[in-house]
Amino acid sequence: MVVARDLHKRFGALQVLGGVSLHIDRGEVIALIGPSGSGKSTLLRCLNHLEIIDRGEILIAGEKLVDTDTQGRARYIPEAEIRRVCRRMGMVFQHFNLFPHFTVLENLIEAPVTVKGMKRDEIVPRAEELLRKVGLLDKAGAYPNRLSGGQKQRVAIARALAMDPDIMLFDEPTSALDPELTGEVLRTMRQLAHEHMTMLVVTHEMAFAREVAHRVCFMDKGQIVEERAARAFFENPQHERARAFLEHVL
Ligand code: ADP
Ligand code: MG
Repeated sequence: MVVARDLHKRFGALQVLGGVSLHIDRGEVIALIGPSGSGKSTLLRCLNHLEIIDRGEILIAGEKLVDTDTQGRARYIPEAEIRRVCRRMGMVFQHFNLFPHFTVLENLIEAPVTVKGMKRDEIVPRAEELLRKVGLLDKAGAYPNRLSGGQKQRVAIARALAMDPDIMLFDEPTSALDPELTGEVLRTMRQLAHEHMTMLVVTHEMAFAREVAHRVCFMDKGQIVEERAARAFFENPQHERARAFLEHVL
């Protein structure tokens, strides 16, 4: 579902991705972990074109998003194609990013109507089904400022799912939440994983990563320095930096 090869990205003089490669199979859950500043968010943002890579190759669900020309520069497909390919990915951010002036239900139907041209009659039942799934059907008419952080994040997940993505990217979805609210969001994500959604999850929730992820990719200084089955990784991390990190967070 996702193939990234040798991604390079710099911000000015700062090399943020120094040759990252990643494969995600259909139905796989990958936990992307690593210290702050190691490039995790940038990697996600490059995958769904919120950032432009300098060089490398990305394929999403078998379709090329970008490759590298003979001069070694990133060569993207045309803009309209980019939008179509990236629509196959849903993204959930640390800070929910809900539309504050829309109700919960309107938040879910906005993109399917304006981006996909779906009819409200088609999308409303689907949106309600998704709200039921995340346990928030009773909040359909509420505005985001009336919700707890955990509820907002579950709405954000439902909103991403309303676009019917093949892949879900999560960037620290529980980091902005009070500890007692993280459980409900992790439960929703665990349920998605059990339904075989393909997921790439940046998280500091090590118990979640260990239980739910199939593989762990550990990033340090713009590179994936260790990539292994989740259980093996947590039992016995190989890379020195990964060991130090786990000792710190566990
Ligand atoms: P992580 O998510 O692992 O904490 P990030 O991908 O957010 O790491 O950041 C990696 C590095 O890139 C950091 O040093 C960060 O300061 C830098 N960085 C991220 N975004 C930008 C940007 N838009 N401009 C300049 N530097 C950035
Ligand atoms: Mg980050």
